[in-house]
Amino acid sequence: MNIPFVDLKAQYHSIKKDIDNAIADVIENTAFIKGKFVEEFEENFRELYEVKHFIGVANGTDAIYIVLKMLDIGPGDEVITVPNTWISTAETISQTGATPVFVDIDEYFTIDADKIEEKITPHTKAIIPVHLYGQPADMKKIVAIAKKHDLFLVEDAAQAVFAEFEGVRAGTIGDVATFSFFPAKNLGAYGDAGGIITNNDELAKKCRMFANHGGLVRHQHEMPGINSRLDGLQAAILNAKLPYILEWTEKRIQNADYYTELLKEVKEIETPKVRQNAKRSSHLYVIKTPRREELQAYLEKAGIATSVHYPTPLPFLPAYAHLNHSREDFPNAAADQYRILSLPMFPELTKTQIEYIVGHIKNFFG
Ligand SMILES: *Cc1c(COP(=O)(O)O)cnc(C)c1O
Repeated sequence: MNIPFVDLKAQYHSIKKDIDNAIADVIENTAFIKGKFVEEFEENFRELYEVKHFIGVANGTDAIYIVLKMLDIGPGDEVITVPNTWISTAETISQTGATPVFVDIDEYFTIDADKIEEKITPHTKAIIPVHLYGQPADMKKIVAIAKKHDLFLVEDAAQAVFAEFEGVRAGTIGDVATFSFFPAKNLGAYGDAGGIITNNDELAKKCRMFANHGGLVRHQHEMPGINSRLDGLQAAILNAKLPYILEWTEKRIQNADYYTELLKEVKEIETPKVRQNAKRSSHLYVIKTPRREELQAYLEKAGIATSVHYPTPLPFLPAYAHLNHSREDFPNAAADQYRILSLPMFPELTKTQIEYIVGHIKNFFG
């Protein structure tokens, strides 16, 4: 049996008519840039999230960059985030001219809230917790720290669409949140796409302007901006998928729970911990094992695709070598580097497939 890491084709076939019609509609209406499909998706997403503003942008990386720029973050400023995230989170901080300040992670793969305050300096402007793998960070503590030190709280919710913390949607807890609709994300377009949500009117307006060449009215540029619009085709595809997202999220959670139940008896493996009072979006299912490389090769031979998210914590990459960090600075992220393994995870994954995967993991450990 061959099991892909994600099966975007299975999802397409399950809603083929919706998608094909949506794409044809955009072309018939030649609504490629801005236009009704973008407006519809923005309105639908905003309503579903019960927030005042949703701004569609070109991708999840731009979403963070736009937000940081519009929060006036720039050279001389520091922004706190985690070492174990996709490069975008730190890269966008660097793009503004500010410095990323990394804080180690907790046992849930998210920022260790108890280690944030020791990294705050007079230059700190914002904290970007990442709800990694779809698990919300400890937002209660983080909100308190941000309030106490008067810092902006930007949630990187790229992997956490429809996750919740204490009954509140992740992404609506801080000042502003960013999403990615990269094809393999929980709500995936068929190309690049991203979004920003906030209840702050002023910030929303600035973000929308900056993303659209610095203006809301054609040829009236209020500031030098960038070209980062959500395109019509992607918006229509996302619109077609939106009615299914809650159901798909439930399926992901069920799949994760089934993995954990079956893997319980495998002593050599640590299954992902689930934060209390939180609802994860189960974007990725990441186990820990000291024999990661061997297990990955063994599963590959059995036709099971796995992956590592992410192979190198950001401070240890050449891009951030100039910050001169050592492995001791981030003991948890450093320890995870060689033991994390992401197993196949997507809503259409069947119980039979999960049993097949776990069966091979058990065989490997004998
Ligand atoms: C995917 C992702 C991004 C960036 O999104 P793109 O749409 O690929 O630009 C940012 N942060 C995290 C945590 C992500 O997983």
